[in-house]
Amino acid sequence: MTVSSHSPVVSERADAEALDRADPLASHRDRFHVPEGLIYLDGNSLGVLAHSVRERVRAVTEREWGEGLIGSWNTAGWIDLPMTVGAKIARLIGSPGDSVVATDSTSVNLFKVLAAALAMRPDRRVIVSERANFPTDLYMAEGLAALLGKGHELRLVDGPDEVEAALGDDVAVLMLTHVNYRTGRIHDMARLTALAHRHGALTIWDLAHSAGAVPVDLAASRADFAIGCGYKYLNGGPGAPAFLFVAPSLQDAAVQPLSGWFGHASPFAFDPGYAPAPGIARFLTGTPPVISLSALDAALDLFADTDMAAIREKSVSLCELFLSRVETLCGDLGVSLASPRDAAMRGSQVSFRHDDAYAVMQALIARGVVGDFRAPDILRFGFTPLYTRHVDAFDAAGHLFEVLRTQEWREPRFNVRRAVT
Ligand SMILES: *Cc1c(COP(=O)(O)O)cnc(C)c1O
Repeated sequence: MTVSSHSPVVSERADAEALDRADPLASHRDRFHVPEGLIYLDGNSLGVLAHSVRERVRAVTEREWGEGLIGSWNTAGWIDLPMTVGAKIARLIGSPGDSVVATDSTSVNLFKVLAAALAMRPDRRVIVSERANFPTDLYMAEGLAALLGKGHELRLVDGPDEVEAALGDDVAVLMLTHVNYRTGRIHDMARLTALAHRHGALTIWDLAHSAGAVPVDLAASRADFAIGCGYKYLNGGPGAPAFLFVAPSLQDAAVQPLSGWFGHASPFAFDPGYAPAPGIARFLTGTPPVISLSALDAALDLFADTDMAAIREKSVSLCELFLSRVETLCGDLGVSLASPRDAAMRGSQVSFRHDDAYAVMQALIARGVVGDFRAPDILRFGFTPLYTRHVDAFDAAGHLFEVLRTQEWREPRFNVRRAVT
């Protein structure tokens, strides 16, 4: 995919409207509840509510729970949700249906797969990751290393060019996030996985900013383990269950330490001893959160009549329009591009640096343009192709220009920090 085919110079709003009229995904927007007047560019933090998700949650609570009660575990498919939802996610990340489960949080899933991977490389003590990785990934690795008490160490690199030098016969696991949360930079999953394998290490890929946003092919990349988020581009709702992938060839050798009854070979035999289930089910732990899994299940159905190639094409088109429009309007107003310029190297977001990024974002939010701030100086704009239009990208750039040109962000109310940025 070349950048030039997606970078029409859009200088008039009518050009953005024309792109929307020609957009094969345009009708998907009507399936979501996008609040009136809002330009929502934060679907990479919390996806938008779909009408079908609201209906599903109502049906699960009123009928399945309210009327069906305990019987719904069998009659409403509750017990199978981690697997059925996992299979819908598998389609989006290039993996076989029975290699993914939807369960727990991304942090907890990382703990499970990292522990399983380290146990498969008992003579090695190093986990290689990136300093710019999302902090929870590094924190979980630190906590697990301390718990194991065997001297495991986290070796952090600054970018993909340093990975090769960090790999050696002491490295058990290469643990990376595919799309960086701040800059949107994409790692070459196949190349880095092959590199790790050449040194005898296993790989864990965090797909939090990839699943539902950029094409991923776990099978072709020969990835060993992966994890990711349900509430970002998958639109599963606040705190939606996360997912976890284990390559089929490793499933029966991988053992995870949170050995709860839902990962047991026969949970309802109530054996006093633990015996892991065959296959991916051994990565489950406790009772599935049925209401939130049902919401995620319904949200995933919105991907059923499209594919990641179409989503990617629109994502690139939106991001290119926004990027070029912001640079044209705001080039000398203190913003600089923090994301890769090459669309092929960038996920479904565009980030800019600004010395007062926090206040600038607060001023934008007050204007109804919702992106987010990531410390220390990043303005982050996520583009979710299923419900974002080219006119949204066009108008958002115009608002950013106004906020910077008038220095509106200097108002005291935009300089008060809140807990969630
Ligand atoms: C959002 C995100 C997480 C979130 O983890 P939770 O356990 O859901 O809080 C983890 N890793 C990455 C890379 C993320 O972007």
